[in-house]
Parts: sequence; structure tokens; C-alpha cells
Amino acid sequence: MASSSDRLVKLAFSSFSNLMVRQPTLTPAAHEWTNFAAIVATFPASVSPNQTQGKSDNPLLTSSESVALDDGSVVQEGFSTPPQKMETICMATGTKCLSASAMSERGDLVHDSHAEVLARRCLMRFFYQECLNSIRGSSDFLDFGGSHGIHRFTVKRGIGFHLVVSHTPCGDASIFPVQPEDRQVIEKRKKVDGPEEFSPKRQKTATSIHEDTHRTGAKCVPNATACDSYLSGKDYHIIGALRTKPGRGHPTLSMSCSDKMMKWNVLGLQGALLSDFLGPIYLVSLCIAKCPFNFASIRQSLVGRSEKFSFSTGGFRRHAPVISQSDLIFSHGKHQADLDVTTQKSTCHKSILWIRNGDSSSSVEVIINGKKQGATGKSKLSPSSRSMVCKMELFLLYEQLADRLQSMLSNHSPRLQQERTSYAFAKRKNVSYSSCREDFAAAFPEWTRKPSKLLEFSTTTTDTETTVD
Ligand SMILES: [Zn+2]
Repeated sequence: MASSSDRLVKLAFSSFSNLMVRQPTLTPAAHEWTNFAAIVATFPASVSPNQTQGKSDNPLLTSSESVALDDGSVVQEGFSTPPQKMETICMATGTKCLSASAMSERGDLVHDSHAEVLARRCLMRFFYQECLNSIRGSSDFLDFGGSHGIHRFTVKRGIGFHLVVSHTPCGDASIFPVQPEDRQVIEKRKKVDGPEEFSPKRQKTATSIHEDTHRTGAKCVPNATACDSYLSGKDYHIIGALRTKPGRGHPTLSMSCSDKMMKWNVLGLQGALLSDFLGPIYLVSLCIAKCPFNFASIRQSLVGRSEKFSFSTGGFRRHAPVISQSDLIFSHGKHQADLDVTTQKSTCHKSILWIRNGDSSSSVEVIINGKKQGATGKSKLSPSSRSMVCKMELFLLYEQLADRLQSMLSNHSPRLQQERTSYAFAKRKNVSYSSCREDFAAAFPEWTRKPSKLLEFSTTTTDTETTVD
């Protein structure tokens, strides 16, 4: 019987394949590879209304395995109780990131287009949509309730969210010793790609697989107390460092996916704005498709690095998702490209976004350089060129939802008094989230800080042609 990890990955891959069948022009070119990420929801046998998400609600785990997780123990094969239903919520592909100089002060660009980050932004858009559906009593995912003038949403009991990725996340989680099977692929690739694709130091000195390590393009943060030595073999990288993503030859301010996922394991996937409406949403599991993989390194990177710190403000806590690997390979991914020793492939510049809508329809988008495909010249500044998951579009949804809730209240709560404020102000508004984020920032003081001017935009400065209903 296939493992639960395989079932989750298989569902995500088949959702992507079905999308390619429906819209063949989206299919990545044969000479390109990309990374893939999807959020899959699992449902228990029955979902009772007015019950909320709890930490033992993982429908894929037995109780004993849940205990193991709480202890922080190593759990890879923790999937034993098949869920009654699984559904792909959103998907994204992408490997690109805008340089610091290309970032926008208008909130209209997606700065980080790595697949994992885009999938999480798609999930946030999905949650806004489900909040609005829940008010109408038509959400399969959220319950709506309120007291003392504050309306809140809760995930229906037993529903879990899982992240499926085609490759280990960039940055710290991708740094681990090269294994024999990896070495064979590397040697074969040399014949196709030519020696220039490989470090001369690596070729010259890595005579034993134990002397070499997998590498990441992410660089140690500029103010790091310790940096990569770039020495040959296993000493090329340091372990545990915070890293920023590479841009097109220019530095970026975007943290690596390993670092961002570590943060999601503390602050949740919902982010600051949705925290006004939802409690923290943690990943039940992270399922990684077939690729070079080292469980201990990935767990240490995504969970272990934050274990010496305490986070327990307002429902936030450090969470350890089940980490597992599937035997399935993403056919358009890097690992497949590495295995295909007859061709040389390059990274795909475009990103595909797909989000399930509540009415069984879906939203699809292709973005390039942080904007919708086709946006050039003057149209680059048009609201119609904005991605549905850029900061501005999500902020518009935030205000739409807040306005809807306020209109339902007879006694207005001060917290829901809607003024048109800046994005930065709205992000600081939720006290619990802000407090935990400050704890996190204190734990990781080297984390990059973006210029405050990038967050000072407001929705009054844009056309409000948005959005979902
Ligand atoms: Zn990444």
C-alpha cells in the first residue's frame, strides 16, 4: 500500500497534470525545469460543525505518533490512518526572486516567486475567500463565530493542511552530505552540462562521497556572524545559517525557503493580516518528492534551529510538522532534469499559480518577474497586471473582509473600526502576532529587514477592482 506521503504527493501531482491537460500552454517547456509546491487539505470521516482545529487532529497520525511529534522525536513513517478525503487547495511553481533594487513600494509585485512561498500566498488568498464564504454559511473549511463584538473564524475540526514540494527547500535544509546515488547523478550530469557547471574545487578534491555536500544557491545573510568558507568538499557551506535567495546575479532581501518555513513553524502560515480573523495555522506535514534528501538535516533546519527559543504568545508555539519523503518524482522538476542525462535543462522563468475556489471553480495565473505574464510598458503599473497574491491584492481582501464584518456588528469593536491605514500599520495591529513576531526577531537578529518604505502603501492609492465574493 502506498504511504500517506505518496498519496498526498500523488494527488498534488495529478492536480498539476490535470491543469496541464486543461491548459496545455501552461506546461513547462521540455528544456526547462521548475520547483513545485502544493497545499493539500485532509478531512476526517466526518466534520462536525462548531468544532475547532486541535493539535491531535491530524487525521493521518495515530495518537502514539502524535506523542512522538510533541516530544520532538524523529518521525518519518507517521501516516497510518488514511483520511476519508484529500483535496488540493492550491499549487504553484517557481524558482525566481527579485533583487533588492527591483522591489516595489506599491505592494504590486510578488518579490519572492519560489514555489513554496507562492503556494503559501495562494493559501492566504484561499483563506480570505473561505472567511467570506463562512459568513454566508457556505464554507467547507471554516466555522464562523463571534463574541464580545469580535468575529473570528476557526478551521473545522479534523481538517489538516499539508505542504507537498518537489524538492528540498532552498537554503539550510538543502545542505547535507552527498550520498552514493547522488554522486552517480552528479557524475552523469557532468558529461551533459560540462565541467563549468561544477565547482573546480569540488571536482578536484571531492574524491570521496563523504567529503562532499549538497549545495544551495542561497547566501549567508550580509550581517551573519559566520559565513560560508567556500572551501572544497564538505566544508563549502556552514550549517544552520540564515540565508537569502539569489537573484539574477544581484543580492535579494528574501530569506531562503528553509528560513521562511522555520518561521511558518512558529508564526503559522496565515501571516499578520489574517491573524486578525484566524488563529495560527500550522502545517500537519511536509511531503517532499523524490530528490536528494536527508531527514535529520531537514528537520534540524526547519524545526531544530528554533528549539532553544520559547514562543508561546496568544496561541502561537513552535510546531513540528511530520516530515516525509515520497518515491514519486515531479516530472518537470530539478531531480527529473538531473536524472535525464541526455539533455541540458535551464530553470523556468515563469510561475504558475492555481487556487481552488469555494464554488469548485479555480483561479489560474502565470507570473513573470513578480507580475502577471504579458504586463509590459505602461500596463506594468495597471492594477490588472497585479498578481492575485501580491501584497496589495491580499490587503484589499483583508479590508473587504474587515468591512464585511464591521457591517455585521451592532456594537462596533474598536479593533474592527476600519480606517484606511497603511499595510505596515495593519500588519502591526494584531497584538498576539506582533508579540510572537518580535520574539522570533529577537531569536534570529540576523534576519534581513526590508526598508519600511516597501510597506507604507495603502489601498487608497490604488484602483480597487478586486476581488472575490
Ligand atoms: Zn526556495
